Amino acid sequence: MQRRDTPDPSADLVLRGGTVHTLDQDDTTGTAIAIRHGRILRVGGDAEVTASIGRRTRVIDLDGRAVIPGINDSHLHATWLGAMWPNTVFGAMDAGAAAPPPVDGDPHDTSHSAPLLTTRAERRAAILRAGELIASLGITSYTEPGIGPGEDGGATGCFGQDVFDAYVELEAERRLTARVNVLALFGVLDGPSTLRDVTTGLRSLERETTRPTWLRVAGVKLFADGIPPMHQAWTRHRYPDGTSGGLLVAGLDEEERAENLRRMIVEANRLGYQVGIHATGDRTIDTAIAAVEDALRDSRAELRHYIIHGDLVGPGELARMATLGMGLNVQPGIAVKTASWLAAVLGDDVAASAWPIGEAARAGVSVSLSSDAPILAPDWRQGIADADAWLGAPLSGPTATADRMRALLRGYTVAPARQDGAEPWKGTLEPRKVADLCVLETDPLNVAASELPTVGVELTVVDGELVYEREPVYMR
Ligand SMILES: [Zn+2]
Repeated sequence: MQRRDTPDPSADLVLRGGTVHTLDQDDTTGTAIAIRHGRILRVGGDAEVTASIGRRTRVIDLDGRAVIPGINDSHLHATWLGAMWPNTVFGAMDAGAAAPPPVDGDPHDTSHSAPLLTTRAERRAAILRAGELIASLGITSYTEPGIGPGEDGGATGCFGQDVFDAYVELEAERRLTARVNVLALFGVLDGPSTLRDVTTGLRSLERETTRPTWLRVAGVKLFADGIPPMHQAWTRHRYPDGTSGGLLVAGLDEEERAENLRRMIVEANRLGYQVGIHATGDRTIDTAIAAVEDALRDSRAELRHYIIHGDLVGPGELARMATLGMGLNVQPGIAVKTASWLAAVLGDDVAASAWPIGEAARAGVSVSLSSDAPILAPDWRQGIADADAWLGAPLSGPTATADRMRALLRGYTVAPARQDGAEPWKGTLEPRKVADLCVLETDPLNVAASELPTVGVELTVVDGELVYEREPVYMR
């Protein structure tokens, strides 16, 4: 316990006169919240929290606005986003391109164009630019899913080891406005990787950072397969051309590729690294889960390995994932936008049972929702609207609607905190946890999910510090 007598026990910041959704296990709410030394001091009624106000306390009257835990976009390519914004991959498609772009991009297929980023200074600027954008959206944590030597020669310049070094610099200068988790990358983004590159890379990976609560090397990103619309997801189903996809991992045949993927996962786990596995096909997911089963037979450390995208994950796999403590990281907007592409290659039935986020949650899998920006815009409010649409009509009544909204908000707060292994200190607004929060102009539990994208983010606080206050220039 950290109970110490201090000369001035007053709060640094108090927000009062609104609704505070802690998203703790009991769905506790209050009307006010007090913050001290970057941590949450208390949540409660205005009268209770007013006791924490001293002469030096900054007091913000919420005027009925709502406070929720800071958003954790648990799969967001911030450097690439900063280089591209306001463009997104789907934005280009929405604007009229006929052919589906590869989900998760195909950033190395830019043979005809110059890299987006070439110097350290440009990479720093891109990270800061993305930081400003995401702060304006209430995002206080994110995972940069894949930067490292595998992309040192990459065509975009957005994923190489120099990007990590730029993060280290910015963190040392205290210029990050969101907490960053990094998955290292020893192959090409969306491309093949070799067992040798991954294992030697993992063994020499520099994992220590000065302040891991701000910048943390969580583990490794493995690209296990591609995506269904490109006939790349490895599946028990057949594409129209009779193929069934395959693994991206290097190997002479399917058996060797599967064995190499297994050994990558087992080795990462042995070294204490989390594995985020880009896997969309059912056979890929099955292979990845079997590897995690193998890995955990030797070591039961809770590394929170997870499947990224998980398009074709089935009920049997979800049950095994729950048993293993594996998470699922899904982008609701990709489900909504590409379900018709999936149907076109694998049929309506497969598309209808894809991205089963409701079933996953019911099976006991921790489901993190994310944007995969700049594939999509990094707007979690749209992500919640898309997830709600994807789930279909809830049970009737305002309680069911509010329960759904709370569950989806947890997909952007509580679940990704668990993915980060950080649930003891972030993800909910409970005393002693870090003061990462955002203020919305109205209570999200009082609006339909489809209306959430119109609810403004008014204020973003990270570690007790204001990193964003609403200004017209940020509002789109
Ligand atoms: Zn991605």
